[in-house]
Amino acid sequence: MELILEKWGEILMTVKEEHELTDVSFETWLKPLRVYNIEGSKLYILVPSEQMDRNYITKRYMLPIKVAIAEIIGADYEIEFILQEQTKAIQPFKSRNPEFAANNEKATLNPNYTFETFVVGKNNKFAHAASLAVSESPGEVYNPLYIYGGPGLGKTHLMQSIGHFILKQKPDKKVIYVTSEEFTNEVIDSIRNGNASAMTKLRDKYRTVDVLMIDDVQFIIGKESTQEEFFHTFNVLYLAGKQIILSSDKPPKDMETLEERIRSRFECGLLADIGFPDYETRMAILRRKQEMDGFHLDDEILNYISANIKSNIRELEGALNKLLAFSNLEHTEITMEVAIRELQNIISPDKPKEITPQLVIEIVAEHFNISTAQMISKNRSSEIARPRQIAMYLCKNMTGTPLEAIGTLLGGRDHSTIIHGIKKITEEYDKNENTRYLIETIKKKINPN
Ligand code: ADP
Ligand code: MG
Repeated sequence: MELILEKWGEILMTVKEEHELTDVSFETWLKPLRVYNIEGSKLYILVPSEQMDRNYITKRYMLPIKVAIAEIIGADYEIEFILQEQTKAIQPFKSRNPEFAANNEKATLNPNYTFETFVVGKNNKFAHAASLAVSESPGEVYNPLYIYGGPGLGKTHLMQSIGHFILKQKPDKKVIYVTSEEFTNEVIDSIRNGNASAMTKLRDKYRTVDVLMIDDVQFIIGKESTQEEFFHTFNVLYLAGKQIILSSDKPPKDMETLEERIRSRFECGLLADIGFPDYETRMAILRRKQEMDGFHLDDEILNYISANIKSNIRELEGALNKLLAFSNLEHTEITMEVAIRELQNIISPDKPKEITPQLVIEIVAEHFNISTAQMISKNRSSEIARPRQIAMYLCKNMTGTPLEAIGTLLGGRDHSTIIHGIKKITEEYDKNENTRYLIETIKKKINPN
């Protein structure tokens, strides 16, 4: 039951995505639904207001929800939608784990997102260590801690691990976790409300915390009133030595519409990036998840998944969930054949695009908004020369093309020019996290799988 409660948001989002629902349909029909209880294999879902049509919801959404639950939880439930007046006949659910209920309510943390379940690999080692340090000494070491990286790479998981850790050590700490969208909405609501007390309430809420976590701050940008409120909240907390933790899909300097004063606040603590997991880390994550779910697949199948899903851990887990659901619903063993068939929508059915040096050059040019003609030209200004060197580096690393051939493709440059370019980017990559992030982003554009 707790699993369903905890994954309920994800289940509804899956229905939305798989059925391409518009926001208004989602808000109207799905978002108000509440898990009421489970009895045996029967799941009761509460349809809250009279205005919502239970028959319509049953007809239109019962099956999609059932399928999404099977995919995400790996279990098959019979679903019944109930109205408020029927609830008297059915016992409501009460968590048997009071700690779960209390902490979860206090900080709305996902109980699975802890350090214990977080697999440390090369890609997240630094961010993990920084997060642990912040957990042990909140407000004292890195403030703010700014975690960034692409979608599905573990930012939310890591951030919430900090929250859990702190609450476990000191349960009376006030810890708030919000997405920047929630924060924005609250600010806008208070402003719309127009009275001073709404604003005071909001300020009381955010300015009295010990730990404030704001997830996905890239969505705060471009909204003036929110930036203003955020800025003041930040200053109050920062000066009082309270810990602030932020996450974003990019480093502050790449957040174009961010006000300068906020950017400099973001940069005054520690920036920690999470990159793409390497093969070992992907396998370790799959193994860990298997263990947690009490499920076993042949290494050959795990290998198939991690060899094909490289840049998003959420998708990596999604593939495993899908096989788990299939095996539970059909009561069959998962063979390699079944895995390939069941995962064909996740693992692209088309033959992967061949990565040629031409493709690399085109995509690098596109990324820097220059033409391929400029790439191969004699122009040595840094706006052109640097992308060109990045192309050299990626041609070597992603296609294994001989250096002479890379030179020829890049406008007949000689061997030593290519060596120099590759060396320069390699050194930068090792030293500079922004370069690493840049390179990984371009790599992902070249090879999205
Ligand atoms: P992000 O916030 O960066 O988009 P999430 O934190 O939501 O990513 O992670 C996506 C999924 O992948 C979550 O289910 C999370 O538990 C899992 N995950 C990500 N990184 C790791 C890791 N290093 N070890 C174990 N699970 C991970
Ligand atoms: Mg996230």
